[in-house]
Amino acid sequence: MAVVKADAYGHGICPVARALAHEGIEYFGVARLAEGIRLREAGHTARILVLGAPAPAQLPRYAEHNLDVTVPSADVAAAVVHHARPRAPLRVHVLVDTGMGRLGLSPDDAPAVLSRLNDASGVTLAGLWTHFATADAPGSSFAHTQLERFEAVVAEHGTEVQHVHAANTGALLTLGESALNFSPSLVRSGIALYGLAATSELAARLDLRPAMQLQARVTQLKTVPAGTPISYGAEWQAPRRTRIATLGIGYGDGYPRLCSGRASVRINDTTCPVVGTICMDMCMIDLGPPGHPPANQVTLGDEAVLFGPSGPTVYDVAQWSETIPYEICCKVSPRVPRRYVSPPAPDSASTVPPPEETDRHTTSLQL
Ligand SMILES: *Cc1c(COP(=O)(O)O)cnc(C)c1O
Repeated sequence: MAVVKADAYGHGICPVARALAHEGIEYFGVARLAEGIRLREAGHTARILVLGAPAPAQLPRYAEHNLDVTVPSADVAAAVVHHARPRAPLRVHVLVDTGMGRLGLSPDDAPAVLSRLNDASGVTLAGLWTHFATADAPGSSFAHTQLERFEAVVAEHGTEVQHVHAANTGALLTLGESALNFSPSLVRSGIALYGLAATSELAARLDLRPAMQLQARVTQLKTVPAGTPISYGAEWQAPRRTRIATLGIGYGDGYPRLCSGRASVRINDTTCPVVGTICMDMCMIDLGPPGHPPANQVTLGDEAVLFGPSGPTVYDVAQWSETIPYEICCKVSPRVPRRYVSPPAPDSASTVPPPEETDRHTTSLQL
């Protein structure tokens, strides 16, 4: 199951889903009803599971759009039984909370709900699933505890459902197939699809390569004397005569303000520090002494890489801003134009038709 919630982790749900469908993906996972409907309206006929909890009043729309429903409670199960019609059947995945503490039935309550749904007309038991809380940590004993709790439910009811699923990217990378004693027919992979994992060490286990690169243009260049303050709060002053470039990107584009004073960018094959407070639409970088590279080479309109394969990593930006790589991708704001480029074609098995080009490229994604 390809998880494409939150606009495919910021990568753009439509182009990503198109590329995945082209690769043969038959199951999508989204978080909200609206995301599932968006995929249907884009013409996708693959199965789609909405991982979030449905509001009972929304259930007819799941049937209308042929979306699989998560059943996380006895109340939702009752609403499913109430709304299901043989002519508008509901496909349900019963969610067991084995330790995530977010959504789901306790392992003790799940069996009664499963039999109730099994007996209802117009209900298809499409799945039985759980979600790990600590699978990103290699060797987590709690992940194994969750697995044991889930296995106990699967042992009793696994054959009543079409799919049994538990693993996200972290579980795939840390638990491995051998830890899955039941036979899962799906794994729910999200961040790995975008070439990332929770940490760079985990990503290295699968040799994942990040798809997203965030770039911004130089919109002004100036040479300033020592002591010149830069940006809001005048927090930073030039320690010497230096060349400052203003970039057309800021926290309004999703470049975290917490990166102020910590981050660097890559420009002209050189790493340059972000100086002064990051603004909503702009930030400044220090190119160093005028007359020396890169200061004497960078020109207006040049592009700096804020993160991506040719710059700092998403892991760096996550660390500078005290968060996780997931959040960095997800929060690249909609105003940042996405440009999709074909893969560098090692085996060139498939290429994605490029969507419309934009004039101000700040994000490029390799699909
Ligand atoms: C987001 C999500 C996933 C995907 O997780 P990754 O760590 O990105 O692979 C899987 N399952 C559920 C329930 C999720 O919410």
